[in-house]
Amino acid sequence: MDKRVALITGAGRGIGAKIALTLAKENTDIAIVDYSDESAAKETLEALAQTGVTARYYKCDVSDFNAVKTVVDQIVKDFGKIDILVNNAGITADKLILRMEESDWDRVLDINLKGCFNMIKHVTPYMMRKRYGRIVSISSVVGMMGNAGQANYAASKAGIIGLTKTVAKEFGPRNITANAVAPGFIKTAMTDALTDEQKQAMYKQIPLGCLGETQDIANAVKFLVSDDARYITGVVLKVDGGMYI
Ligand code: NAP
Repeated sequence: MDKRVALITGAGRGIGAKIALTLAKENTDIAIVDYSDESAAKETLEALAQTGVTARYYKCDVSDFNAVKTVVDQIVKDFGKIDILVNNAGITADKLILRMEESDWDRVLDINLKGCFNMIKHVTPYMMRKRYGRIVSISSVVGMMGNAGQANYAASKAGIIGLTKTVAKEFGPRNITANAVAPGFIKTAMTDALTDEQKQAMYKQIPLGCLGETQDIANAVKFLVSDDARYITGVVLKVDGGMYI
């Protein structure tokens, strides 16, 4: 197969960086779209350079509709096409609803959910022309379970599931698939900071008895964008050690 091009949001660090490295090892050129300055993604870009693919960094706020159009057009100019879109950028602003400000709600929904819409809106015209596209959006089991203190986050992640199923129906006839991956608790800087007591409480909720690794999420994305998944669209793949069954 020709070398493919993947646009991955929030790939400067964390889960997105692992997805970028994993797809790069599959001979895929990488366009990272991230919020901070490029220097924040230095380690990721250095690791990508080792894989021999072309990787470029684009600074953009995914919640800004017009900025996303500009960056998507620029990526197509630079790479010639976009075969794969991974909507991974996401934030939290956790508070009980009693204390949640309107701004907490708006910012989380704007980045986590509208950010996915913005990307899909501007990337799909290019995919349609090529009659090929693979879209994966990172949801969360919290979007299916709900979670006290995360009304904004859970709503945004549930919204991603409805969006994904709709995109699968609208764009299936153009050979564009859309799927979601729903991680459970994944080992990141955030979970490393928890106390042993908090970790033990977490493990009790997970039948497999441990946290997931960023590689577990990247493997799921790798599968969903591969030819092996060509007949899979509109699914939500939980990668959560059985946390939500
Ligand atoms: P992370 O380490 O906090 O990374 C999030 C990335 O998104 C960062 O690169 C960040 O950029 C970027 N980002 C934030 N706001 C942005 C914006 N407005 N425009 C563009 N990029 C933006 O998060 P993570 O733990 O890797 O999580 C990745 C995804 O998985 C998120 O959607 C998250 O909700 C989901 N998830 C994570 C877990 C978990 O256990 N970690 C569980 C379920 C779901 P900057 O570095 O510039 O801030």
